[in-house]
Amino acid sequence: MTLERPVVVVGAGLAGLACAVRLQREGVRVLVLEAGDAIGGRVRTDVVDGFTIDRGFQVLNTAYPALRTAVDLAALDLRALPRGVRIRRKGRLHDVPHPLSSAGAPLRAAGSGAIGLRGKVALARYAAGVVVSSPRSVKARPDVPAAEAWAALPRDVVSDVLEPFLSGVVLEAPVTASRVFTDLMMRMFALGTSAVPAAGMRALPGALARRLPADAIQLEAGVDRVGATSVELADGTVLPARAVVVATDPWSARDLVPDLGPAPEPRGVTTFYFAAPRWRGADGKLVVDADGSGITNSVVLTESAPEYSTDGRALIATSVLDRGPVPAADVAVLRDLAADLHGTTGERWELVATREIPRALPAMTAPHPLRRPVHVPGAGVWVAGDHRDTSSIQGALVSGRRAAVSLLGQLDGRASGVVARHRADTERQR
Ligand SMILES: Cc1cc2nc3c(=O)[nH]c(=O)nc-3n(C[C@H](O)[C@H](O)[C@H](O)COP(=O)(O)OP(=O)(O)OC[C@H]3O[C@@H](n4cnc5c(N)ncnc54)[C@H](O)[C@@H]3O)c2cc1C
Repeated sequence: MTLERPVVVVGAGLAGLACAVRLQREGVRVLVLEAGDAIGGRVRTDVVDGFTIDRGFQVLNTAYPALRTAVDLAALDLRALPRGVRIRRKGRLHDVPHPLSSAGAPLRAAGSGAIGLRGKVALARYAAGVVVSSPRSVKARPDVPAAEAWAALPRDVVSDVLEPFLSGVVLEAPVTASRVFTDLMMRMFALGTSAVPAAGMRALPGALARRLPADAIQLEAGVDRVGATSVELADGTVLPARAVVVATDPWSARDLVPDLGPAPEPRGVTTFYFAAPRWRGADGKLVVDADGSGITNSVVLTESAPEYSTDGRALIATSVLDRGPVPAADVAVLRDLAADLHGTTGERWELVATREIPRALPAMTAPHPLRRPVHVPGAGVWVAGDHRDTSSIQGALVSGRRAAVSLLGQLDGRASGVVARHRADTERQR
């Protein structure tokens, strides 16, 4: 018996894996070709000197609707980061509870001294506005750069809270990204919990891959050329395909599918991982800096996920933006700045690893279309990846599912049932 040609998915990041899982679920044979030596794409984890080192500090949010349908959250063994943030402003540390984390939170924020009373009221009103609105109505707002949308807010709310916090999400300062996206993210932060799996962020792609047959993923299989019914590997091998989904990062996608047009600009970040003796500083809350040290955020990961260390030492992730204030060139100075953000000294901190990621996110310049096409008829291929939706785990997962559903719609006889189920899923996630 000859096997049916597989649908070839190029790239084993979250989008490619989500797409493959969806196709497989509908009984379609898939082959995922990944250029790298492991799955996960931008969500990978290494073990260095007994520490769990994600490839750049990142978290998942339990409120991401696509996450809940893609994986069993309980199986990820999540470790929640404390809610709220700590902000350094004029040399002092202030705790800012999330304005919607409880009924009393705005009042506690008022006591924090991070911003003036007028600012606190404005911040609580802004946060309430994004949470009580449905995602549909947030998406219907005129999309302008976030900084422009915040112009009506008191200056300290923007400079001391929104800008420092959200610059770590969209990886740029000032925040010029789409206000629709930043509002949707604020909604997620209010409704969900930021967390990391105990085994590191790699557990997320791992959970998706486990839903595929063992031989459905080939590593170190970089694709050089794609067509409607075949792909050519870097070593010249041509593999026939029933259809092809390009689920790479946007910059590789543009090379493989020129019809996509120019790729978005990249946003980059470098995360410095420091080890410190047993932690005696403040709790593990994410600290952001409104004083312009160049550090966008810093967090004692082991305070939330002790499993990130095997010997009881603390692991601190300190991130610096490519597009932000220039930090100290000297790592020792950066270490001391980071320690200061945690209210301690860095004398006994050691650098364990540095992860420099110049292409961490596609920029989401406003106006940002939240749903870009996933079918490129001219090239005869489908496309998935965060660049088709939003630059996030949620966006990557949704894009994979959308590409699968669009493709299934073109495969004989499946269209109506699959599309109806997709609509039902989408409705449930509103
Ligand atoms: C440092 C950092 C922090 C982040 N923080 C967060 C966060 O806190 N919350 C959040 O929601 N999101 C965050 N993100 C974003 C999120 O991780 C990404 O949006 C998402 O992982 C993108 O997935 P993807 O599948 O679209 O692309 P990718 O992960 O880039 O996957 C594409 C895959 O295609 C492969 N590939 C490329 N070219 C080829 C080829 N020619 N042949 C075969 N394979 C190829 C690549 O090797 C890669 O494995 C962060 C990202 C980074 C890097």
